[in-house]
Amino acid sequence: MSELHKFLFDGLPVRGMIVRLTDAWQEILARRASNTSTGAYPQPVVELLGEMTAAATLMQANIKFNGALILQIFGDGPVKVAVAESKPDLSLRATAKVMGELPADAHLPDMVNVNNKGRCAITLDPKDKLPGTTPYQGVVPLFGDNGEKLGKLSDVLQHYMLQSEQLDTTLVLAADDKVAAGLLIQRLPVKGEGNLEGTADKDHDQANEDQIGRNEDYNRISILASSLTRDELLTLDVETILRRLFWEEKLLRFEPQAGMLGPRFACTCGRERVAQMIRGLGEQEAESILAERGNIEVGCDFCGKQYRFDAVDAAQLFTPLGDQIPGSPVVQ
Ligand SMILES: [Zn+2]
Repeated sequence: MSELHKFLFDGLPVRGMIVRLTDAWQEILARRASNTSTGAYPQPVVELLGEMTAAATLMQANIKFNGALILQIFGDGPVKVAVAESKPDLSLRATAKVMGELPADAHLPDMVNVNNKGRCAITLDPKDKLPGTTPYQGVVPLFGDNGEKLGKLSDVLQHYMLQSEQLDTTLVLAADDKVAAGLLIQRLPVKGEGNLEGTADKDHDQANEDQIGRNEDYNRISILASSLTRDELLTLDVETILRRLFWEEKLLRFEPQAGMLGPRFACTCGRERVAQMIRGLGEQEAESILAERGNIEVGCDFCGKQYRFDAVDAAQLFTPLGDQIPGSPVVQ
């Protein structure tokens, strides 16, 4: 089961979080793999999108914000766009648009930053927004301080979090076709949590900025966290990871979040929604698609799931309710 664990380092200005997505991540991959018009993701995209999904969950869980956190990469290479969304209840979904071939060992720049035009954006979309309010969006470069192309998503996001929150952050991310996982270590704000709510005054900001890179406890814990290998993150359970990394530190653990309180897959798409869309096209248009292709296939833009209506299904959509075949899946 997918799970999120939060913890504090007792008496130190450092907190951490570890996420392990299993069933939720496998559902995302299965939806894509069963889509006959796209097929499964190539392996490098599996790894990128999995890391993005784990990171979006960690970032959502790390802020006090009532709305969706959307992590997007707009690529200028074979990956045109990759999106991971995490809601305040930790439900999540993710998708990517891939065009053309990519090598089996493609890294971040080969996928999304071939011509230096790729960019990453983090959007905070409030749940109860007033009409006309635009969501907050931060754009993150895919380049380091010296203009070098960043090779790892974790480098990109650490940079973003340092800039947006003035807090040192260490991220370790990894994904394969079974697990998407991440470890986040962050220095706590100097006073209170004003920073995280955007209410900190100038003195707090300055005090926080002055601490960047200078807190010995954070630096020690960050080095320990960075020693976690991809293989360990993907294969070990959370207890083992925390024991191996921080056996000399005193951790205060929170109740793990799993099941309906933990990270889980959710998308708003469904067969009935697609049925309504086809009804909206009108009978003639639906029939011409059927004549051309044999069936009507519609893929969800947010999770990749494909819905297929054959001639019989489609005919049902345009049959008055009373005349439908009993038990038809579209009669709801
Ligand atoms: Zn969907």
